[in-house]
Amino acid sequence: MTIEAPFLSVRRLSVTFGKAIAVADISLDVAEGECVAVVGANGAGKSTLGKAVTGLVHVSGGSVELTGQPVGADAARRGALYVPEGRMVFPQLTVEENLKVGAFTQRRLGDWRTQRDVMYDLVPRLAERARVRAGLLSGGEQQLLAIARALMARPRLLVLDEPSLGLSPTAITTVTRFLGQLRVDTGVTILLLEQNTAFAARLADRGLVVSLGRVERTSLTQTQLGAISVATE
Ligand code: ATP
Repeated sequence: MTIEAPFLSVRRLSVTFGKAIAVADISLDVAEGECVAVVGANGAGKSTLGKAVTGLVHVSGGSVELTGQPVGADAARRGALYVPEGRMVFPQLTVEENLKVGAFTQRRLGDWRTQRDVMYDLVPRLAERARVRAGLLSGGEQQLLAIARALMARPRLLVLDEPSLGLSPTAITTVTRFLGQLRVDTGVTILLLEQNTAFAARLADRGLVVSLGRVERTSLTQTQLGAISVATE
């Protein structure tokens, strides 16, 4: 009997910045199509974990594998993309230009209009605002655009860093619906890094808690995720 490698496998991962240990000995697996939440307070190491998984920071120890193959600086090319916190869009470019840039970075320009139309179908609001400068969108719309821009490269693994950060409750509901629909439509695998455990519980299949760079609790169900608070730890 052969045992298939998990889609994403993180083993005993450590990341240090000088003497500061941002991630210490973290292990986790994510199956294809799954959404796993990593929740933790400020400074817990979530962003660093997400960047390590997508090859954006140097790993000090341990390993990251995608479908059984070690992954590093080639992560984006292998389909693992990081969407940073803070609704990073190009404010001076239009919605459509932002989407085009997302395709360009992964050399997907050839058929970018096809994927743009998929995004517009998923988020009609972006289609309505296609020619509007991204800086003029609401916070929720900018977050949708930031995620849609990453999706232009057709990633297999999306690492979302605090997509709910700074959004109104209404905007959070919009982003939740979008991501839920995205999962149904595309089956994309998601590693969700969050402080907002209620938001994480609405999206993720399961979760784990990190604190000071270490895994504190594993295998949390959606209900357990929704019942804990990490932001004030
Ligand atoms: P937040 O929600 O506030 O972004 P986080 O859980 O994402 O927090 P990280 O941003 O990964 O946490 O930070 C973990 C630790 O690593 C913190 O102590 C932080 O100061 C430190 N750190 C992160 N990036 C760097 C860096 N480039 N240089 C030095 N220290 C860093």
